[in-house]
Amino acid sequence: MKKPHVVCIPAPAQGHINPVMQLAKLLYSRGFFITFVSTDFTHRCQGQESLGCLDGFRFEVIADGLPTVGEMMEDFEAFLKSVSVNCTAPFRDLMRKLHHPSDGHRVTCIISDAFMTFSLKVAEEMGVPEKEIKRSLKNLLGLSPTTFFLDADESYIGSGYLDTTIYWIPGMRDMCLRDLGGFIRVTDPKDFTLNFVIDEVQNSLKASMIIFNTFEDLEHEVLHAIRSMFPPHIYTIGPLLLQCRLLPDDVLKSVKSSLWKEEVECLKWLDCHEAASVIYVNFGSRTVSTPQQLIEFAWGIANSNHPFLWVIRPDLVMGGHTILPQDLMDEIEERGMLVSWCPQEDVLAHPSISLFLTRCGWNSTLESISYGVPMLCWPFFADQQTNCRYACYEWGVSMVIDNNVKRKEIGDLIREMMVGKKGKEVREKALKWKESAEIAIKEGGSSHTTLELLIQELAQLRDVSD
Ligand code: UDP
Repeated sequence: MKKPHVVCIPAPAQGHINPVMQLAKLLYSRGFFITFVSTDFTHRCQGQESLGCLDGFRFEVIADGLPTVGEMMEDFEAFLKSVSVNCTAPFRDLMRKLHHPSDGHRVTCIISDAFMTFSLKVAEEMGVPEKEIKRSLKNLLGLSPTTFFLDADESYIGSGYLDTTIYWIPGMRDMCLRDLGGFIRVTDPKDFTLNFVIDEVQNSLKASMIIFNTFEDLEHEVLHAIRSMFPPHIYTIGPLLLQCRLLPDDVLKSVKSSLWKEEVECLKWLDCHEAASVIYVNFGSRTVSTPQQLIEFAWGIANSNHPFLWVIRPDLVMGGHTILPQDLMDEIEERGMLVSWCPQEDVLAHPSISLFLTRCGWNSTLESISYGVPMLCWPFFADQQTNCRYACYEWGVSMVIDNNVKRKEIGDLIREMMVGKKGKEVREKALKWKESAEIAIKEGGSSHTTLELLIQELAQLRDVSD
């Protein structure tokens, strides 16, 4: 009997590729044939060897019209436009190649990133069921009333207006305007990204299932609200990274999803440090900082006197000035390690790590929760503001860094988190959530049970189509 064939298509960004890849590996290990769709951008970053060597796990690369990494990181709008305009036709061609029911070549379903909903249209044309995977579910609800901010202009920002409480988002209590995702907290109703996100969310609702990389205990109120508002079946199967930890090594390691070369030496460096002594600083794959912010951060971390591992991507600073001044380098030489990219999950799982300074991307947040590491959040854009609010006030696993970052504040917050009373409370909560995540993915846990259900339903789709 032929294996059911699932086509997986993430957006070409690290935080989107990782969860889709995790789900693809889980399905592969349960007998599905996988076609994983990369784009030119991803392929250029990863190189040929990334295409893996697993029998029955195939990669296909489609055009995306994106320029090379350094040129596009700061222009998110151009990124979204390029992907949505350029990927549709090549994806349709690919599906025509893969899906020939009359010759017995059938795609059972497409699992698509919620930023790639053009795939829904293609799926519909071909008669293939489509599932959506969303990184974080809260933006879905934030978009329900679409006209909330249109009476404000730029001058409102900083005047306390952002502290205005929002009471109309179902399932999300005590939210303020500042907690809304950066994409939707805009003053221009014609803003491209706002409208892109609205369209993608609306399109996602046409899928037959929506899959979330979260777990019931963590977001039960929001999930309840979503389930009562939206008709498609909602599946919560996260943290996917923890579900994947149970996979055999050949599946885990044969296919990589990192866009850049991981400097694995940092793990050896961590081995030389005491338990819960090192601060880990990483601002994710896309965000940028000003040179001044980088300096303030660096002095704040240096003055805290704790050992630290800091990932500074070559394109982290706007304009490309990522070099730290010599006096600072001399100061941190003894106790800091700087790398350009690391195996983040291994780092967060390392016993020496005590604190994570992060932009609060959804994957980083979930990874931190999964390994019980408390966070200091410095949100920048997308869903980061909302994730930060939940991490700080709902789950109690984090404190927030002011947008106008100053070295003294960084130093004070690090001290509080490492040895202060609030730090102790946050640490306890982080361990509690780690336990909760582990329960969710164990046999009988909510995410484990839902994943089993999802696998059964996908297998049945194959039976129906055969
Ligand atoms: N990541 C990594 N090494 C790094 C930085 C990031 O492996 O040095 C991974 C990280 O583990 C996470 C993803 O890249 O899975 C980033 O996604 P996230 O949603 O946290 O943030 P984004 O980069 O999308 O802002």
